[in-house]
This record gives sequence, C-alpha cells and structure tokens, in this order.
Amino acid sequence: MALLAVLGGTPVLNKLLTPYSSMGAEEVEAVNNVARSGRLSSFIGAWCADFDGGHEIRAFEREWAERFDCRHAITVNSNTSGLIAALGAVGVSPGDEVIVPPYSMSATVMAPLFYGGIPVFVDIEPKTFCLDPALVRASITSKTRAIIAVNLFGHPAALHELRALADEHGIYLIEDAAQSPLASENGRMTGTIGHIGVFSLNYHKHIHTGEGGMCCTDDDALSLRMRMIRNHGENVIEPLHVEDITNLVGFNFRMTELSAAIGREQLRKADTLVSGRQAIAERLTAATQGLPGLTPPMVRQDCRHVYYVWCARHDAAVAGVSRATVVRALVAEGVPLSEGYVKPLYMLPAFQRRIAIGRNGWPFTLSERRYDKGLCPVVERMDEHELVEFCTCSHALPEEELACVIEAFQKVYSQLDVLADMEKKRL
Ligand SMILES: *Cc1c(COP(=O)(O)O)cnc(C)c1O
Repeated sequence: MALLAVLGGTPVLNKLLTPYSSMGAEEVEAVNNVARSGRLSSFIGAWCADFDGGHEIRAFEREWAERFDCRHAITVNSNTSGLIAALGAVGVSPGDEVIVPPYSMSATVMAPLFYGGIPVFVDIEPKTFCLDPALVRASITSKTRAIIAVNLFGHPAALHELRALADEHGIYLIEDAAQSPLASENGRMTGTIGHIGVFSLNYHKHIHTGEGGMCCTDDDALSLRMRMIRNHGENVIEPLHVEDITNLVGFNFRMTELSAAIGREQLRKADTLVSGRQAIAERLTAATQGLPGLTPPMVRQDCRHVYYVWCARHDAAVAGVSRATVVRALVAEGVPLSEGYVKPLYMLPAFQRRIAIGRNGWPFTLSERRYDKGLCPVVERMDEHELVEFCTCSHALPEEELACVIEAFQKVYSQLDVLADMEKKRL
C-alpha cells in the first residue's frame, strides 16, 4: 500500500489544482465595447430616463428576469448591498427582529443592523445545512419582520415551506441566493421563491462580474423601493408621489455598464458553467459514497443542488480518527479541503460585545436577545467536529485532476487504521 503523504510518502497530486475561471473572449469583447463607448455608467440620482441606469444595465436586468422567470431583476454592486436594499424595502425598523441562520457569509446577518434590525439566529438542519423551518416557526414573535434564508453551498433552503410560513404571519421571506444560481426547489428557481431573492456576482461565485449582485422580486412596490434605495431615492419621492417613505434613504449601490456587459455574457453561459460545477460535485459524491465515517452531501427530493461548495460530514466514531487528522492527510495528498465553513456567526465580536452601529450598543440596546455559545448546537457541531469542505467553485478540475482527487480520498480512507495509530502516537 502506498505510504501516506502525511507520513512522508509521495502525494497523489504534486501540483496545485487549476483555478476555476468563468471568463472568456466574449466578456473581453463586451468590456471593450463599453470602454470604447466611453459611457462606463449612465445612472443619474434624480428622476429622469437614466434613474434606472444605462443600456447594459437595463438589458442585463431584462435578460436576468427572463432567465429566472421573475417580474423584476435589479442590479446592485454586491449581494451585501442587495441585502441591505431588500431589508430597507420590506420596512425593517429599529427593534424589529430578522430571523437568520448562523451558517453563512457574515453579510447575511450584519445587513439587518443598518436599519436597527435585531438578528435572531435559528439553527440549521444537519442534512442540508440550511435553516430548520420548524425552529423558524417557533422563533417568530410579534416583533419578527423578515426571515433571511440562505441557500447554503448551493442547496435550496426549505423555501416553499418558509414562504408559506412568512405569508401566514404577514412577514417577508428574503433569500440570500449568493451561492445558488439555477438551483431549484419543486421546479422553481432559488432567488424567486421568497418575496425578494438576492444573488452575488462577486469573483468567487459560479458566474460573476468581479463585484456585483442582483435582487429579484415579483412585487412592483418592493422593486421600486429597492431601485430607490440603490440610487439616492430621496430625490425621486416627490416626482413619483411616493407615500410611504420609510427607509427611502438612498445609497449608491449602482453597478457599472462594464460589469453589466460582463454579466450579460456570464448569464448566457450560466447553464454550462453551473452544470459543470454540479457534475464535478456529483462525481465526487459518487466516488466517496460508502467511505467509512464520511457522508457526502445529500440533495433533498425535488431539489437541484448547484454545489458552490461540496460539503461532507465526518463521523469520528465510525472513522476511528478525528476530522483534523483525515483533513490533514488529504491536504498532504494535495486535496485542498478545510475543516468547517465559518464560525457560528453569533460568535463574531459585534454580537459578543454587542457593539454594531455607534458607540453605545445600538441596536442591541433595543432587545433582550442574547448571543451565547450553545445558541445553535447543530451549527456548532458542524463547525467543531463534522463539516469537511471542498470549494467546487475555486477549482476547474479537469478530468485528470478530478481522478487524482478521487484517488487521494481512496488512498487516505483505505488507511484509516494507519491514521488512527498516528493520532494515538501524536505524530
Ligand atoms: C458571497 C456571499 C455573500 C456576499 O456577496 P457579495 O456580493 O460579496 O456582497 C453573501 N452571502 C453569501 C451566502 C455569500 O456566499
């Protein structure tokens, strides 16, 4: 049997994996055309033909809405901006509660704070890593204004169930669909099941424009409010005769024509790019199914998982070794895996020290909610013991590299006894 690289043997992979890139000649051409035109942005922060941006922006929004089968698509300069616009649009006010999962990119849980919203952390289901709808139901109070569901790692949260729950209580479901373009639940695409869905187009995602985001909604009023928050909406309240001016304090969340032109090309290729990521992940799942103590990602019935990240779970009792040792052995073979995803987000200093906006603890001063360790035991268990992550959207993984990755898993998992021995001797 081949000596494990962690014990000095030859690694299965002797070079770094080829990075994933979604950019092609079409994007270069599109950027050049916009650059030559000289109009790198057309937005004007006042009521006029250009309040909603220029040619590329409008075309990108139109094409996105068509592809995702929603009434409105609104470009923004990031998913983070999009989440802030969405929370503003649904009228979050100081002291309102916003239900969030503690397993996500930090922007999901920080966004409510800008309007004085109080993030209420609700635990996840261990199988999909997304919000547990039963726990969400139990956490709704008279103060709850919105739920932010994250389609984490590219798998849909229980979106239809959460939407029904939100509608039942007269509150809003906002989807953070940053990691889930073209994923679906019951035939409906993620990002279009909640009242608002927000995509990310930053460099790390399946498709991207460098930095960027897209908000989707079927609601005309929410669409207008998001467009106002995106672009200095205070200036158009009078000409548009807007009655409810709550949160219509505008930002500049505008995307450039350059980014929109790239985005249009990325959208044309999205099916191929996303399916490619999915195919790699499915190969990895098939090859690792049945390895002792390793549970590859599952896909809930009637869902499409698009695998921003391929996440498996490690069971130390079955494997006979800790997650740390297995990951160390796989990394030594050249497979870039990590232990866990992010720390449970309520462990961030903002929550632990209760300081967010201003010096005096606002908005936490408006709430009795606490953020102690132990708050969400499933996320903590994933973080501390179980989750093993492979970033599908970071590596191109041509056939020969994928074969090596699979071989490395087989090599390591066929020698768990050797690893257990190594662990015992603290090597
Ligand atoms: C990437 C990401 C974000 C942030 O997106 P930006 O476009 O960089 O603001 C937010 N939430 C999730 C789940 C993400 O993966």
